[in-house]
Amino acid sequence: MYDYLIVGAGLFGAVFAHEMHKAGKSCLVIDKRPHIGGNVYTEEIEGINVHKYGAHIFHTSNKKIWDYVNSFVEFNRYTNSPVARYKDELYNLPFNMNTFNKLWGVITPEEAKAKIEEQIAEAGIKDPANLEEQALSLVGRDIYEKLVKGYTEKQWGRKATELPAFIIKRLPVRMIYDNNYFNDTYQGIPIGGYTKLVEKMLEGIEVWTNCDYLADRESYDALAKKVVYTGMIDEYYDHCFGQLEYRSLRFETEVLDTDNYQGNAVVNYTEYEIPYTRIIEHKHFEYGTGPRTVITREYPATWKPGDEPYYPMNDDKNNELYRKYKELADKNDKVIFGGRLGMYRYYDMHNIIEAALEAVKMNRD
Ligand SMILES: Cc1cc2nc3c(=O)[nH]c(=O)nc-3n(C[C@H](O)[C@H](O)[C@H](O)COP(=O)(O)OP(=O)(O)OC[C@H]3O[C@@H](n4cnc5c(N)ncnc54)[C@H](O)[C@@H]3O)c2cc1C
Repeated sequence: MYDYLIVGAGLFGAVFAHEMHKAGKSCLVIDKRPHIGGNVYTEEIEGINVHKYGAHIFHTSNKKIWDYVNSFVEFNRYTNSPVARYKDELYNLPFNMNTFNKLWGVITPEEAKAKIEEQIAEAGIKDPANLEEQALSLVGRDIYEKLVKGYTEKQWGRKATELPAFIIKRLPVRMIYDNNYFNDTYQGIPIGGYTKLVEKMLEGIEVWTNCDYLADRESYDALAKKVVYTGMIDEYYDHCFGQLEYRSLRFETEVLDTDNYQGNAVVNYTEYEIPYTRIIEHKHFEYGTGPRTVITREYPATWKPGDEPYYPMNDDKNNELYRKYKELADKNDKVIFGGRLGMYRYYDMHNIIEAALEAVKMNRD
């Protein structure tokens, strides 16, 4: 009999297991996938750590969390500076002085501000009725048409004029020549990949892969006093109130016989006619110098049962449905629901680690 059966060897499960193991509790971790790491899993191809479930850049302003992850593996100095490609024009992201200089030839922040304000005034939108109007009222036509419209329409699978305005609350413009995407104090990539990080967390702990908890829940339950469940909460309850919705993604990975395909880890494709939203060139996350390269095209996809649920759709309808499942979960004292699927919320990695440490604190005694 284990103290904890942990369903899911992603970051939530790994942190929970690590801390409980350290506190002297016995833990068994299972995952239905053939590997550990959940969505942060990296697989080595051609000596390059390939981010199998989408590009992952660790960033946080929480020093405790930064020190925590660095206690397992060393992180490099990778700084996320994506480039946007619109037809054959390249622009720096996030929108900053480099972007504005390329768009309009402006040199000073004052000139850039004046140009944006001029375009906002030209759009003349007082009360935005949809996402297109919202974006035009925030940044004007040039930025919207070249850098926002096509990308957003691909992501959501709908025209910007049919999407609600609230999806875009802000479109930050940065009036300095700084291409660093994140505002956080700390950022980087674990040297050797995320799988190494999770392997270190799970050191000394029993892990079974290719095991689907829901396929034989009674036998698994009999193995432990308590269960930590990081899968889909609605699936746990057999969708008794209905199906929660997600957005999915499709990845197409290719090994190329060139040492440098696009000169940057992340290139966003902002025109609608190109069906993928971005191409990731994995070697640039770790400054790889080998003779070949691996790229992944990322396509947004509508989710249907059986697909990978990447992003919870936290709109009113789904949040209300989740609330019903959470009520059941709160009454269930044998199971702790955690992680982005158990809590039905998009969490970055640092948030997930914080949430797992919090769950440990609440359950340690
Ligand atoms: C495309 C994409 C890009 C992202 N980029 C970033 C980024 O750049 N920076 C950042 O900070 N965060 C990023 N994130 C968020 C990050 O992936 C999550 O914060 C983190 O992976 C969540 O960990 P988790 O343990 O909650 O979930 P998961 O990693 O999904 O782990 C859950 C695990 O549970 C297993 N499981 C589910 N059901 C069962 C079952 N019935 N039986 C057994 N096992 C089961 C699954 O197989 C899975 O391995 C990104 C997310 C996505 C989707």
